[in-house]
Amino acid sequence: MNIHEYQAREILEKYGVPTPRAEVASSGEEAEEIATRIGGRVVVKAQVHAGGRGKVGGVKLVDSPEQAREVAEALLGSRLVTKQTGVAGVPVEKVMIAETLDIKDELYLSIVIDGDIGAPVVMASTEGGVEIEEVAENTPEKIFRVAGDPLIGLTTYHARDIALALGVPAESLSATTKLIIDLYRVFTENDCSLVEINPLVITEDNKIVALDAKITLEDDALFRHPDLVDLRDANQQDPLERRADAADLAYVKLEGGRVGCMVNGAGLAMATMDITKTIGASPANFLDIGGSADQERIEEAFKIIMDDADVEIILVNLFAGIARADVVAQGIVAAAKETNAQLPMVVTMRGTNAEEGARILGESGLNITSAPDLAGAADVLKQILLELEGAS
Ligand code: GDP
Ligand code: MN
Repeated sequence: MNIHEYQAREILEKYGVPTPRAEVASSGEEAEEIATRIGGRVVVKAQVHAGGRGKVGGVKLVDSPEQAREVAEALLGSRLVTKQTGVAGVPVEKVMIAETLDIKDELYLSIVIDGDIGAPVVMASTEGGVEIEEVAENTPEKIFRVAGDPLIGLTTYHARDIALALGVPAESLSATTKLIIDLYRVFTENDCSLVEINPLVITEDNKIVALDAKITLEDDALFRHPDLVDLRDANQQDPLERRADAADLAYVKLEGGRVGCMVNGAGLAMATMDITKTIGASPANFLDIGGSADQERIEEAFKIIMDDADVEIILVNLFAGIARADVVAQGIVAAAKETNAQLPMVVTMRGTNAEEGARILGESGLNITSAPDLAGAADVLKQILLELEGAS
């Protein structure tokens, strides 16, 4: 689960991590009041679940409370499109008004889980303010990594090593070491999957401050943090992803494709997307209905796929182990009839009651082609896509 910068900032504050003074506003008037309180010159920051705001006008330095109001009013109610959002962007419903700092140096600091070693890893770089992906691509030697120990945590000497690698001034060394240890506690005690400070800044008077903060919470551990669940902002989520969440379905939107993929299980999802690519097409999404889908969930799954405007054809690849193929087929038919769907579908189902499932689909009168296996389905898919191209 993603949370907003202003919420991440509050968590950091609780752990003693220095952050700029800031408050959140939902209107121009509030923004002006806050800016007056802070003292005139402030930075206005759009609160969205995406980084890269600075480059597209989502972070603006202003000189007066009146300007803060103007900038806030322009941002509020708009949608911000950054490198990290889709083309539709995300709605700006709040702005954070923060004190400005005189920045001497921008650094990078983050903590993520490294699946290979099974521990949190602290990543630090002197190249802050730019996207870390760029640093990793062009100058990977400039990223310093230290793993914490799941039992012991991050030791002071490790934190000090990281602070040294960041090249902070001598007088900031102990504050930076403490900040790194506090940040590690934020990560572990809240079951985060990401804590990212970019930039971590050294001010002209050698203070170390977390200027921007991104925190992602691990969904599977949220049950341990009922207070953090309240930080959810569903408006930042893609509407189809939100519907899938509500139905307990795993839906992932993919940019640039036109094949809607309905599968059960991550392995089938990968195979289905691979074969779609192999025939020269691209998936528009994939929706994993999981093991024990009843007819209602299958219907909802289908409606979600069909509501994705990019989808021109639907590929269904299911292994009926726990879910029964005939139940799935009934769900597909019911959903297609209810929504009057005209989209062509290619379906391959194997396992329990697969023949019965194929019979139900065959007799439905819908635009469905059944295939005996995934390779067969891919052939049909390719054929239909060629016909669609020929027709347009
Ligand atoms: P992001 O673009 O979404 O990652 O937003 P950030 O909060 O990281 O802000 C982007 C950039 O704006 C930072 O890298 C800084 O260069 C700049 N910036 C943000 N706040 C301040 C500030 O108080 N003073 C100065 N001088 N620059 C700031
Ligand atoms: Mn940033």
